Amino acid sequence: MSKPAPRTKPAAPTSRACGMWRDTDGGHCGNTEGVRLYIVGPRCPTCTPAAVAGRPESTKN
Ligand SMILES: [Zn+2]
Repeated sequence: MSKPAPRTKPAAPTSRACGMWRDTDGGHCGNTEGVRLYIVGPRCPTCTPAAVAGRPESTKN
């Protein structure tokens, strides 16, 4: 019942990439670094709801 796990996975733009739509770029952000899942969908650090609203990210250290 064990299947080999792929060690190298090609970047999937739809699963773990930032889904923020940028009109300036004419497409999705597509950033895959630091992407976290938000209510609105996967967002990179510069596209989080807080960042878009111009507010600092609410993180607890
Ligand atoms: Zn982004």
